[in-house]
Amino acid sequence: MRIAIVGAGVAGSYLVRMLSGEHRVTAFEAQGEADYRSICAWGAPKAPMREFASRAGLSFDEYILHEGRYFTMRFGDRVLEIPLTGLSTFDKERFLADLRRGGDVRFGVRVPRGSPPGDYDLVVDATGFHRALVGRPSREFAIPTLEYMVRYREMPLDDFYAEVFPGLTGYLWFFPLSGNRAHVGSGDLSHRHAERLARFLGDHPPDEVLRRVGRPVRLASPSMSLPLRSGNVVAVGEAAGVVFPSTGEGIVPSLQSAEVLISSIRGGSLDSYEESIRSAFRLHDEVGEVFLDRLLGGRRDFRTAIRLLRLAVRFRSMSERFGLRPGALQLVGAMLGGAALRPDSGS
Ligand SMILES: Cc1cc2nc3c(=O)[nH]c(=O)nc-3n(C[C@H](O)[C@H](O)[C@H](O)COP(=O)(O)OP(=O)(O)OC[C@H]3O[C@@H](n4cnc5c(N)ncnc54)[C@H](O)[C@@H]3O)c2cc1C
Repeated sequence: MRIAIVGAGVAGSYLVRMLSGEHRVTAFEAQGEADYRSICAWGAPKAPMREFASRAGLSFDEYILHEGRYFTMRFGDRVLEIPLTGLSTFDKERFLADLRRGGDVRFGVRVPRGSPPGDYDLVVDATGFHRALVGRPSREFAIPTLEYMVRYREMPLDDFYAEVFPGLTGYLWFFPLSGNRAHVGSGDLSHRHAERLARFLGDHPPDEVLRRVGRPVRLASPSMSLPLRSGNVVAVGEAAGVVFPSTGEGIVPSLQSAEVLISSIRGGSLDSYEESIRSAFRLHDEVGEVFLDRLLGGRRDFRTAIRLLRLAVRFRSMSERFGLRPGALQLVGAMLGGAALRPDSGS
């Protein structure tokens, strides 16, 4: 099959690696090769990343920059210390470059919106937030972000840190990298992220600002991001709405969605691709609903509390997947926006 992959972020680069041996694959990437930037805080859980890397013939551990022990989350004057079970930062740009190595990738080519390249049996829209080829999603829901890569002579914090904004409208993050560098960023639905970030950087002035980047992140789940297929064009990664709705975590879900696509291609039919993505990301739909409901000032009744508790129990059983192990009450409290936030025993 002749396959065009448009966008060589994490989903597109993984597909280049995994499909090039079996098909005639060409990728088109808007950015240049030498100055390719991945706008992301580079945080990901080790266990699933090791599996994806190993399937691609790479060793994830070689890319790790910082292995976390605790994630300190501040909700106003309350502080949670969440034990980590693998959350790390890694050199995402080097990882992506290694995934793409040996593939036919045309850098510096921005495929025009709505114009999939011709002469291909399959075109993959892996353009992330841009969703350049499958068109607008049925329901857009995105959060604006701004992020700095900074260097300190002395790091103000030595592990993962976040400040969650009132009403759960967003958060500020500090993710340590290596060499006294860190990603410090913020995203906020009420658009106060730049102001909050400026305040943090004023309190903890870096010695060097290495980068300043920003873009919206799509938090809408796959069911809100239809269509995921249009003719011979399919969406994958953030274009397919797979980012985890309450946290903005997109690396692992984008790789998972790429795996769903690979299975559909190997199965010989894309007819059920959309349904396969929706079924693989049901948890995102559920979390998305509760999160949106909460954000839009929705119910705080008994039913919502039960749904939250069920989600919290599920989430806790997936500590390897997410790389952290919060207590159940911590989770429910966090989802309710700061209520009941006394750390529980963590059992
Ligand atoms: C500030 C910030 C911090 C984040 N931090 C984290 C984090 O720590 N951990 C985590 O898991 N997730 C994080 N995310 C989310 C995560 O980065 C994304 O969800 C994930 O990278 C999506 O992968 P993707 O391959 O679908 O899209 P992307 O990584 O966005 O890649 C899309 C690619 O398509 C290219 N492109 C776009 N339009 C065109 C076009 N028309 N033609 C050709 N090429 C095109 C782009 O240049 C880009 O290379 C963060 C996001 C942001 C914005």
